[in-house]
Amino acid sequence: MCTYYSPMFLLPPHDLVQLATYVREINHVNVHIVDAIASGYSLQKVLTLVKELSPDMIVSLAGVETFGEDMACLDHIKETFPEITHAVFGYYPSVFPEETLRKSKMDLVLRCEPEESLSHYLTALARGAGVDAVSGLAGWSEAGLLFSNQEQRIADLDRIPFPDYGLVDAGKYEEAFFGGPCGAILSARGCPFSCNYCTSTYGKRLVVKSPETVVSEMAHLKSGGIRFIRFLDDTFTCDRRRVIDICKRILDTRLQVSWSCLSRVDTLEGEMLEWMARAGCKRVLVGVESYSQKVLDYLNKRVDAHTINNQLFLIKQAGIESFGFFMVGAPVEGEEEFRETLQGMLAAPLDFITVNSMVPYAGTPFFRQVEKEIYFNLLPFRCEYKDANVPKTMQERRRHLYIRFYMRPGILMRHFYAIVAHPLRALKLLWLLTTRPG
Ligand code: SF4
Repeated sequence: MCTYYSPMFLLPPHDLVQLATYVREINHVNVHIVDAIASGYSLQKVLTLVKELSPDMIVSLAGVETFGEDMACLDHIKETFPEITHAVFGYYPSVFPEETLRKSKMDLVLRCEPEESLSHYLTALARGAGVDAVSGLAGWSEAGLLFSNQEQRIADLDRIPFPDYGLVDAGKYEEAFFGGPCGAILSARGCPFSCNYCTSTYGKRLVVKSPETVVSEMAHLKSGGIRFIRFLDDTFTCDRRRVIDICKRILDTRLQVSWSCLSRVDTLEGEMLEWMARAGCKRVLVGVESYSQKVLDYLNKRVDAHTINNQLFLIKQAGIESFGFFMVGAPVEGEEEFRETLQGMLAAPLDFITVNSMVPYAGTPFFRQVEKEIYFNLLPFRCEYKDANVPKTMQERRRHLYIRFYMRPGILMRHFYAIVAHPLRALKLLWLLTTRPG
C-alpha cells in the first residue's frame, strides 16, 4: 500500500467483493456484503442486520488506520452472536495472527491473500475434515491449541473469478470529483520496492494478471454499470510494456471507460503515459512523500529528489490529472528538510495533494527504528509517540502544506468548477484535510 488514505475517496471494498465472489463461485455458498461505512450504518444497525441475515460465518476486513476501532466492533459482534464463526483479515491480522487471536474474540485469521485460505477452510468443513492444516489460516484446533499456518501466494491471478460488483451498491463509491459508480481492479499483487514505512499486504513478490484478463475484467465491470475504475495495484506502472499492452487492448476493444491508478515517481515515462491518456486514464496518484533527499533516503524510497518534478510533469504533458501523496514526520525531517519539501511541492505540476503523518506501523522497518520512542499495544490498539511534540509538529506541517498548496489562485481556479458544483463537499474536504490527525 502506498500512502493511500484520502478523505476525497470512497472506494469500493474490493477485497471483500473479490473474496465473496471467489467463495460463491468455488464453494457454492451464499454470500452477502455489508459495507457499514458506505451505508452509514451504526453498530446497532449492523447487529440488527446480522440477526436478520443469520449467517453461518462472518468475514471482516480490519483496516490498518482503523484497526483498533474495527476490532472493538468485531468483538462486540462476536459477543452478541457467539455461535457465528467470525474470521478477520487485513494487514495487522496477517502480521500478528496469533496475537490477534489471543487478544480478540475472533475465531479465525485469514493471512495475506484471503481467497484460498477461506475457500479451503469451507471445503474442509464441508468434508468434515480438520481445518488446522489449511495454509494461510490461523485459528484454534479442536483440542483448543492455537495454530497459524504460513500462507501460499496465488500463482495464477488469471483464474480468479472477476469480482461481482452487484454484491454492493457501486453507486455509493467514487473517485474524487470524477463520480461513480466506481469499481476497482487489483491487476497485480505485491510490490518489489522496499519503502521502510510500507504495509504492502502481499509482500515483495509481484504477481500480475495478464493484459488480456485485465481488459476483460474492465469490460465485465463496465457491463455491470461501472463508469469509473480505480486500479488498486501498489504500483500500476511497474512494467511499462505491460501497461502499454493493456492500453492498446482497451483501445482495440473501444472500451471507453475512465480509470485511475497508483504510481511511483521513478516508473513514470512519457510514451506510457500518452498511451494511458488515450486509453481513458484520468488521474495518476503518485507517492511523492518528500523533496528532501535526506528524508527520501531515510524512507528508502530510492528516488532522486531532483528528478521528481520533471517526472510529474510527464503526467501533465500527457493530459492526465496528477495527485501527490506527501508524508511529514520522518525523524530526519528538520526545518531545512521540511522547507525543501514545501518548495518542491509549490513548484510541482500537481492538481491535488494529500498529506499524511508518518505512522510507525508495527511490522515495518520504520516501526523497528522508532520502537523505543512509542507506546504500542496491538489489542486494545495503541500506537502513540511518547513525546507529544512529535504528533503536534506533524499536524502543523500537514496543515501548512495543505494551506500553501490549495490556497493559491492557480489551484483554486483549476478546481473552480468542482468547488461551485460541490460547495459543501469542498468545505468539508478542506476541514477534513486540515484537521484530521494522522
Ligand atoms: S512503492 Fe513503496 S510505499 Fe508503494 S507499495 Fe511499494 S514499497 Fe509500499
